[in-house]
Amino acid sequence: MGDDAGGRLGMVRFADLVRPRLRGIDVYAAPDARRGLRLDANESPYDLPPGVRRALADRLVGGMGLNEYPDDGCAALREAICERHRAEGVDLTPGMVVVGCGSDQLIAMACSLLLDHGDKALCPSPSFEMYGQGVLMAGGDPRWWHLDARDGYRYDVGGMADAVRAESIKLAFICSPNNPTGNSAACDDIGRLAAACPETVIVVDEAYAEFADESFIGRVNGYGNAVVLRTLSKAYGMAGLRVGYSVSGEEAADALRKAKPVYNVPSFSQAAAVEMLRDVGSVMGRVTEVRRERAALAGKVGALALGRLGLGAVVYPSQANFILVRLPGGAAAKTAAALADAGIYVRAFREGGPVGDCLRITVGDPAANDAVVKALGRIWD
Ligand code: PMP
Repeated sequence: MGDDAGGRLGMVRFADLVRPRLRGIDVYAAPDARRGLRLDANESPYDLPPGVRRALADRLVGGMGLNEYPDDGCAALREAICERHRAEGVDLTPGMVVVGCGSDQLIAMACSLLLDHGDKALCPSPSFEMYGQGVLMAGGDPRWWHLDARDGYRYDVGGMADAVRAESIKLAFICSPNNPTGNSAACDDIGRLAAACPETVIVVDEAYAEFADESFIGRVNGYGNAVVLRTLSKAYGMAGLRVGYSVSGEEAADALRKAKPVYNVPSFSQAAAVEMLRDVGSVMGRVTEVRRERAALAGKVGALALGRLGLGAVVYPSQANFILVRLPGGAAAKTAAALADAGIYVRAFREGGPVGDCLRITVGDPAANDAVVKALGRIWD
């Protein structure tokens, strides 16, 4: 009996036990550890400011109780998040905030909380790949909303509302500013979508909002079906510590907490996030620099690409900490490979996909941006 069971089990391939709809999906292609200039993951070029590092080091040396589980409710961090937004004139309460181990985790939580088997979720394309992945993992059915390059990837929110109603969509994602195209959806339009589709949850992913002109965060409480996601991985330069948060009405936040893995945010990450949120001056200084550098980089890369590769080269206007560059004649993959040979990593996309002929370049510090422009000048010579 034991042998039999062992034998039969021995013949089963683990891959065959995976849910059929998930067997074909790829593991998310996060870049490997790489040495050189990392301009492929929209990280901040700056590590935590020295004062924050010192404060954390002192606390670590003094003992942080890392033998104990973290504060599951992230009380101090949620208070610091509210204070941070209050300083910008956005009145939030801790009850409206849920903290995740990165905003990735909040995407997964929204999907698992809201989608029953076969429920449909609207995911923009091209956009952040984790929406489709989160929907599939939860057993839902991703439906794609195609953003059109000829229209500057504009979110046609009126069209989305029609699709949401026609297809009984349960959950819709808007990425604003959109990764990888850099454009934002107008907040008035997002509000109209939320109001027109009260039975659909609208998740507005604002991972790059600090670099943008507009945010929906101050309006979210007016819509019971809207959730804004933010992260400390980008403007705050804390990608290695994995902290993101959602802001919504308190009822939606209470519901989201049901899907939260217990003790999900490490104590050290919570402490670091509180320190960073209080160091608004250095964060905003860095954001101002990225915005300035973004304009300079877009101008230089655009002029080079047009001059060397000719018409068909486009740099799309960006509200985020990266630029998307379309390169004619199959130059995208070759350029990315040549840059990698020079130790500069930028993001290329799946060939044949909606941005297969584009590169996404993270805006780095001035030296990194100079280096990428010089390398492109050599490669396109
Ligand atoms: N949303 C968008 C649009 C992103 O680009 C990213 C990271 N690349 C995330 C969410 C996830 O961020 P994190 O999990 O680091 O908070």
